[in-house]
Amino acid sequence: MRFTFVTLFENIVKPYFEDSILSRAIKENIFSIDFVNPRDYATDKHKKVDDYQAGGGAGLLIKPEPLSRALEQIKSDSPSAYFIFATPAGKPFKQIDAKRLAKYEHVVFVNGRYEGIDERIIEQYADELFSIGDYILTGGELPSMCMCDAISRNIPKVLGNAESLDIESYENNLLEAPAFTKPNSFKGSDIIKEYLKGNHGNILTLKSRLSVCKTNYFRPDLYKKIKTKGKLNEK
Ligand code: SAM
Repeated sequence: MRFTFVTLFENIVKPYFEDSILSRAIKENIFSIDFVNPRDYATDKHKKVDDYQAGGGAGLLIKPEPLSRALEQIKSDSPSAYFIFATPAGKPFKQIDAKRLAKYEHVVFVNGRYEGIDERIIEQYADELFSIGDYILTGGELPSMCMCDAISRNIPKVLGNAESLDIESYENNLLEAPAFTKPNSFKGSDIIKEYLKGNHGNILTLKSRLSVCKTNYFRPDLYKKIKTKGKLNEK
């Protein structure tokens, strides 16, 4: 799988993928990351990529022509390119999106800066718009890195232990059950005794119950969804 970041600030993104699990997956060619800078597609001598807003308004916008040329180039080089725009106007990015997009061949993240991108570019090129939360960031790079991270760990072989994906939080709208490691007792607080008895069937049953309780406590909005879907066995 391939990810392309369309960004004016490649150096913000690059280091994130040079460490840890994701860098290993890149070295093993499980997925790749590349960058396209719209500034390279500006034709004036100052390489201008932004301009004032039509009708007034505070701040500058990314202007359409260089960005459009950059996106056209990507499209002609890669017919499978799927354009995702990071924008506060997008639908909330969810785990289900990460799983779905992990099956795509080539995902392109288009990142706004300043006060955003000329709306016509979004209308003409976006396959999907995503927001990562109801707050405003300085640019699309962080949201796109979050999405890329979440997508890539769902690509087969990226994680050493693929089983962990099935029990992670947000699977079936549940949060993962509490987890512990050594020591068995820490500052007066003990690991749940059942976890230490070695009966894996019992541990799994207990974990699935705790997962429901934890969801009810921390994320009542998700808990409501599992209740209405009738997935709960509330004995
Ligand atoms: N003026 C825009 C507005 O009010 O909707 C905000 C522009 S923001 C300062 C600049 C860029 O950051 C956006 O074009 C987008 O790419 C990115 N961005 C900011 N917050 C975001 C969020 N919550 N989710 C996704 N992208 C975001």
